[in-house]
Amino acid sequence: MESVFDAWAWCASDQLEWRSPATSRPLDKSTMIDAQNPGDLVFVFKEGADSTFLPRELASFHAKGYGLEEEWALAPYAIDDATDLLYERRVRPGDVFWLAAPSLRALVWGLHDWAHFHNHGPFDEPALTELACDLVALEWLRINRELVGVDDADLKRVAHELAALSRFRFEAEGKRAPTDDLDGLFAAPYPEDTSPRPPAS
Ligand SMILES: [Zn+2]
Repeated sequence: MESVFDAWAWCASDQLEWRSPATSRPLDKSTMIDAQNPGDLVFVFKEGADSTFLPRELASFHAKGYGLEEEWALAPYAIDDATDLLYERRVRPGDVFWLAAPSLRALVWGLHDWAHFHNHGPFDEPALTELACDLVALEWLRINRELVGVDDADLKRVAHELAALSRFRFEAEGKRAPTDDLDGLFAAPYPEDTSPRPPAS
């Protein structure tokens, strides 16, 4: 798995600040996780952060219910740019962003992107790269299940939907998945003990 990364865990992911808006508690679990980047997933720049090299848009445009006004956020199209630029400049993602994610779908995708931000790869094998990031995201979700407010059924559902998404990516790329049982892979505990583990806060 780590063969698709040129810098696996170049930065230890120790902390991710996640906020949900006061208006949407508990977590919205209604939408299934698919290939589409969630519109309610926003990486908001922390005040005073070294972020001027990143493409930006007004945070309030995407993150509703947070009382945001003049704050900036990473442009939604710029996840890959951020993955490259943070790595190039060795800027710690946790110093730059907090995550706005009012739904389980946005949170899972946010954790997936958070994995990208800490593990750089050339992305020339997208399906395999995405698989690695999804497994880390799912592991982070499991570790923080109580804080996030997800139960066994939610985790099972997320694992199943991520497996389906992964299958779709390998098919689209015309590549064989590393296992014929992607459902089993996602349902099982994280395959290695090398995942960077942020306590969500
Ligand atoms: Zn990705």
